[in-house]
Amino acid sequence: MKVRYFDHAATTPVREEVLKEMLPYFEVEYGNASSMYVLGRRAKKAMDIARQRVANSIGAKPREIYFTSCGSESDNLAIKGIMRANRLKGKHMITSKIEHPAVLHTCQALEKEGYQVTYLNVDSDGMISLEELERAITKETVMISIMFANNEIGTIQPIRAIGKIAKKHQIFFHTDSVQAIGNVRINVEELNIDLLSMSAHKFYGPKGVGALYAKDGVPFDKIQDGGHQERDKRAGTENVAEIVGLGKAIELSYRDFETYNKKLIELREYYFKRIVQEIENVKINGHKTLRLPGNANVSFPGIEGEELLFKLDQRGICASSGSACSTGAQNPSHVLLAIGLHQELSQGTLRTTFGENNTKEDVDYLVDSLKEIIQNKKDQ
Ligand SMILES: *Cc1c(COP(=O)(O)O)cnc(C)c1O
Repeated sequence: MKVRYFDHAATTPVREEVLKEMLPYFEVEYGNASSMYVLGRRAKKAMDIARQRVANSIGAKPREIYFTSCGSESDNLAIKGIMRANRLKGKHMITSKIEHPAVLHTCQALEKEGYQVTYLNVDSDGMISLEELERAITKETVMISIMFANNEIGTIQPIRAIGKIAKKHQIFFHTDSVQAIGNVRINVEELNIDLLSMSAHKFYGPKGVGALYAKDGVPFDKIQDGGHQERDKRAGTENVAEIVGLGKAIELSYRDFETYNKKLIELREYYFKRIVQEIENVKINGHKTLRLPGNANVSFPGIEGEELLFKLDQRGICASSGSACSTGAQNPSHVLLAIGLHQELSQGTLRTTFGENNTKEDVDYLVDSLKEIIQNKKDQ
């Protein structure tokens, strides 16, 4: 059976060019980047190139990029790092109710340490309110952490406006951009972003490597003790091969940005058009226009998400209900609850996220399968 993959928000395949650049660092170029001899220098040089590529892609300086082991670690380092380093200024931060667990659970961990966190509401499109954000700011507020784009419903937040508010009040602004990198053009200077998290496996790079951008002079504590790697912010021998892969993957993402973006929007709109016309009572979740190009999140009444996924899987279709992280859990997704979907509807929700290898024929197969599954359910 042919496998059709519609879960690019969970992870993406590694591009061939990315893999090719990585391979020598598993084979002959195995030096430790901290070593002074030739193999070490070559590993260091490869990392410098990757750092430059990441910096170029977001309008940053290479010395503002710190490599980590994943998006989750970048979020932890940004949030715990900033809050602990600035605890004398205050112990309050602001985030939203629809963040990825890597942010939400980090904030909850800080609450246990005595920090205060405000979790902003979102409207039915998944947008935060700028007024509510400004009202939440106090003299104690050190940081705002709001995701660039949501991993479940694709909604893109008003990042420029949030950056302005943060700057006006002299508060640090971190954004989890794991879903946005490669899908949205980002310039950290223009958007007043102080810290930004990314993860290579969400933009056709390898799993297990991420990066944190932290603007020059922004004070943050390390969260892992050990050697002095990454300018003493992240202990541990650098994962050279994967860092090389991250650098190549981000460069390719922005090189082919226009065609990639256009392709995903076409697939998504074609999918929306067909399901709205051919299946009764579907509900599209997330913002109509301010959303990730490849994200489609749809509620189908009368069927549970898990059952839908199971029957799609039998037809070779890989998709997701809620988010990958909450699959298997009984609770409905915190994101769908926050946008006001009641439990029943949020359980019949399917997230399909399109990618560069998907075709219109794949989408037709998906829609035809959905129609069949839903019709069979009705006939039961
Ligand atoms: C995937 C994801 C993460 C976590 O990244 P990992 O590299 O898998 O740890 C964090 N935030 C968002 C929005 C994500 O989609």
